[in-house]
Amino acid sequence: MQKKGTIKFYNSEKGFGFIFCEDNKEDVYFHINDWKNGSVPNGNDDVEFELSTSQNGKSKAINISLLKSANDKRQESYSRNDDRVICHGCGKRIVPRIITFKGSPTKSICPYCAAEIKKFSACFIATAVYEDYNHPQVMKLREFRDNHLLTNKLGIKFVNVYYKYSPKFADYVKGKKILAYPIKKLLDGFIYIIKK
Ligand SMILES: [Zn+2]
Repeated sequence: MQKKGTIKFYNSEKGFGFIFCEDNKEDVYFHINDWKNGSVPNGNDDVEFELSTSQNGKSKAINISLLKSANDKRQESYSRNDDRVICHGCGKRIVPRIITFKGSPTKSICPYCAAEIKKFSACFIATAVYEDYNHPQVMKLREFRDNHLLTNKLGIKFVNVYYKYSPKFADYVKGKKILAYPIKKLLDGFIYIIKK
């Protein structure tokens, strides 16, 4: 039975530590020999493991695999906090609320004073080719945009140009199945490449 837990403490000199087991709500001993990952265990790492019994009759964790490192968790919460902006309406530090229409985001507003923060233009890939903003392939492309394009100058330039011309192109492609199909095939191929 796979158990989930979080590393509570690890003594790198002695090579052992304890995992707080989510399912049993108790601390479970583990030894570094049962740590099946390239990294060094860190406090607050999320892990999966199996329960076994050691020679002294106490339970211990074996076959421990890392689910999410403490470092990744830190990064995540950091980028979550980074989503906050100062509202030009009320001056509060806010996380904009996104307003959607038929599944695609149209604008974001301040949750306190409803001032408009950002307008979103139509993504032609989402609206015209996949016909759904939350299509898994569209989500893959969005992920690629956020993680690989918006992280460098050239990528940002490309994204800006894309969003500038995308609404016009979307209107053009919309309803023209004969155009949408080859574009979709092309994108599917591209997504296949970036997923690797
Ligand atoms: Zn506001």
